[in-house]
Amino acid sequence: MNTRNWAGNIEYSTPHIHHPRSVEEVQTMVRQLKKCRVLGTRHCFNRIADSKHHLISTSELNKVISLDPAAKTVTVAGSIATATHGSGIGNGNLATAVTALEVVTGDGEIRAIDDKEMVHAAAVNLGILGVMTKVTLSIQPRYHIRQTVYEQLPVTKLTKHFEKILSAGYSVSLFTDWRRDTINEVWVKSKMSPGEPDMSDEPHGAELQSEYFVPFHHGVEALLAISRLGPQISPHLFISEIRTVAADELWLSPNGNQDSVALHFTWRQDWPAVSRLLPLIEKELAPFQARPHWGKLFTMPPVLLKRHYEKLDDFKQLAAKMDPEGKFRNEFVSTCLY
Ligand SMILES: Cc1cc2nc3c(=O)[nH]c(=O)nc-3n(C[C@H](O)[C@H](O)[C@H](O)COP(=O)(O)OP(=O)(O)OC[C@H]3O[C@@H](n4cnc5c(N)ncnc54)[C@H](O)[C@@H]3O)c2cc1C
Repeated sequence: MNTRNWAGNIEYSTPHIHHPRSVEEVQTMVRQLKKCRVLGTRHCFNRIADSKHHLISTSELNKVISLDPAAKTVTVAGSIATATHGSGIGNGNLATAVTALEVVTGDGEIRAIDDKEMVHAAAVNLGILGVMTKVTLSIQPRYHIRQTVYEQLPVTKLTKHFEKILSAGYSVSLFTDWRRDTINEVWVKSKMSPGEPDMSDEPHGAELQSEYFVPFHHGVEALLAISRLGPQISPHLFISEIRTVAADELWLSPNGNQDSVALHFTWRQDWPAVSRLLPLIEKELAPFQARPHWGKLFTMPPVLLKRHYEKLDDFKQLAAKMDPEGKFRNEFVSTCLY
């Protein structure tokens, strides 16, 4: 049985991985187990999903439950627990599309959450509140995307026209290996009229990932700070991607209350080297109140991490109500949040 995450860099600390096929089976399992964590598609690079006891995988629950064209919502099984994001000055992370949730809480009961403030509290939940068995997302009619790639953008031009360049399309990504005074590629995705060909996704290989969010107005300084580490970073890097994420009101979102620039690193799979580089990067980004991506690799001390989440105590109170025994807490979340 596969007990590793997608990247293969994490071996989960238990061989007990359960695959319930229905919400009722989830409820029975949660009632029976004293400690457990939920596994989604195993795409996180750190130990956020880990458990020393039991893992409840949602792989058999992974389906569209209902689609409501009039309300423009879709209800799916699964989760958006770590604020996964794309790019775009006007685009929030995926969790901002959540309009309702259904959770199996610590006592095995089902709780529906559709009140706006409670959705803000629970959408980015790091797996602490229980098993998210249904998520309703607001959706848009299908549209087509045109992607234009510009090569070798001078950093001086980028810093001068930062906001203009990052707003040049529906979604803009800057790719750099920090080796030169140029951005290797700028990908500008724009909505287009139907009929033109779709874009394809970028490929992924054996890799590790880290990502930090800084307030948009610190984007240029943060980028220049990282570029000073270029000679140390680039030998261990496949590529860096710089994107934007719109501000939101989600309690544990790294994009909470601030438009962000996201500085992403796709590393070669060499954890000893990456673990030496992350503190250097975090030191450079500290003046800009950088927040790490919950699902990627970081070394930032919990005391710094907690400062960024002003609703953290409220979230912990909510967690205490939904899971009084701390059944869903693991070492990662206990260290980061408690
Ligand atoms: C190739 C690749 C590309 C990526 N690209 C991006 C990107 O563009 N942008 C970005 O932001 N991130 C990206 N990521 C990171 C990753 O997709 C996200 O962090 C995401 O949260 C992973 O979800 P998962 O369900 O696979 O997580 P897992 O590792 O399975 O779980 C992550 C957390 O979610 C919880 N969880 C999962 N399902 C449930 C549930 N049903 N109920 C309660 N808790 C649950 C787990 O307990 C855990 O705490 C990428 C990862 C990979 C491997």
